[in-house]
Amino acid sequence: MWWSEKYEPVIGLEVHAQLLTRSKAFCGCSTKFGDSPNSNVCPICLGMPGVLPVLNKQVVNFTIRMGLATHCTIAPISIFARKNYFYPDLPKGYQISQYEEPICQNGWVEIELKNGVRKKIGITRIHMEEDAGKSIHEIDIDTYVDANRCGVPLIEIVSEPDMRSPEEAYHYLVTIRQLVTYLGICDGNMEEGSLRCDANVSVRLKGEKKLGTKVEVKNMNSFRFVERALQYEIERQVEALERGDEITQETMLWDANRGICVPMRSKEEAHDYRYFPDPDLVPVVVSEAWIEEVRRELPELPLEKRDRYIREYKIPQYDADVLTSEYEIANYFERVIKHLTHRTEEAYKLVSNWTMGDVLRVVNETHVSMENFPVEPQRLAEMVDLLVDGTISSKIAKEVFEEMLTSKETPRCIIERKGLMQINDPGVIGKVLDEILTRHAQQVEAYRSGKTQVFGFFVGETMKAMKGKANPKIVNELLKHKLQS
Ligand code: ADP
Ligand code: ZN
Ligand code: MG
Repeated sequence: MWWSEKYEPVIGLEVHAQLLTRSKAFCGCSTKFGDSPNSNVCPICLGMPGVLPVLNKQVVNFTIRMGLATHCTIAPISIFARKNYFYPDLPKGYQISQYEEPICQNGWVEIELKNGVRKKIGITRIHMEEDAGKSIHEIDIDTYVDANRCGVPLIEIVSEPDMRSPEEAYHYLVTIRQLVTYLGICDGNMEEGSLRCDANVSVRLKGEKKLGTKVEVKNMNSFRFVERALQYEIERQVEALERGDEITQETMLWDANRGICVPMRSKEEAHDYRYFPDPDLVPVVVSEAWIEEVRRELPELPLEKRDRYIREYKIPQYDADVLTSEYEIANYFERVIKHLTHRTEEAYKLVSNWTMGDVLRVVNETHVSMENFPVEPQRLAEMVDLLVDGTISSKIAKEVFEEMLTSKETPRCIIERKGLMQINDPGVIGKVLDEILTRHAQQVEAYRSGKTQVFGFFVGETMKAMKGKANPKIVNELLKHKLQS
């Protein structure tokens, strides 16, 4: 970038993650997504007078999980506050959140950039809060409010202004998503809004210690949009500074269709929200024992998993990185491994290749979730077993795999029905080879006089003649032998 010698961007992210609890944060209503509007509501989440909210313990469990995974200090006592503002989708007129005493503070996560460089990003705080409802704008008709989401638990993860490029922000988000999904506390779906990100960005002259005035960008519902919106906003600020203008602190909305940020409002200050401790809720008391209990039950995290794959399955680090990049992929890979009969390094590497290759290709093409992937782990394992014991060749495996995508048959059934069994009998293969060598006497001469590149031609002809079913290893061995004699 033309300006990157002169200016430095500074970025801090605020990420909201919707927690996967079955009931809401302060009442017993269901958190289920997609139910008919205003069906999952009660006097508490609608904010009727005289009701008393009671905290869902699972919300605290999940938040502590995230706090521990991000090396935060867990506060023995934290309190809920009311954040007051008026909006139609907020029937109470305030949101229950945490302000001065959040449950988690002073943590960090490590991100890895494309070039392999690692960097620590500070986590200022993680606090618990409730979601607001949803306004549904029907153009030219009316605006409706769906309160089903009112009171659904969220955590807000606030980073330090430690990121220096949109790429770093992108990798930070990927890391946060990886953590929440591995921890099983959020489904991490940005398109559906289970993970939301507000980006704060400023620029300053290189070498300057003081932070510039920041602008907050909202409304980016994909990782790539966060990166693009930041790129846009950084350029805009640099150009403004170059013109001698000052940056005004404000909130902008990312417009994905136009690829630009548009001003939304001047940023409100904390005092605009008139935060005060919620008198209806007692302080959240977390004992050492509780923290230890959550710590003991922490699942394996991405980096630990990656190292274990390398150690246990002897797969290359590249493979382990791809397989652990998302919880669902790792989960699929491990389930295939579990169903293997051949527990060898060769089999593990094959499972890795198939998962990274054809499985992920189909996932990307069809946008099917790993969980609903048409080839269940058990069937892929069976196919890999058949590959390892030589029943089928890798070429035939491709055919079997394609077939499994649309049929429910086991690999064995497909192979039998279509007669795809690999031919390993040297006698049968030898006979075909003899025919081919007789038919192509000229090429045989050429080979014997040193044009060894025709070897591939013979292999190809044999495979064609045997409909791809000949064991390639045996074809190669026999062919070499016959050509040399
Ligand atoms: P606010 O009071 O406006 O909510 P905070 O200080 O709480 O601001 O910070 C909110 C987010 O903005 C944090 O993620 C923080 O890292 C980031 N941030 C704060 N100051 C700056 C800045 N000058 N430039 C970029 N990001 C910043
Ligand atoms: Zn309710
Ligand atoms: Mg703040």
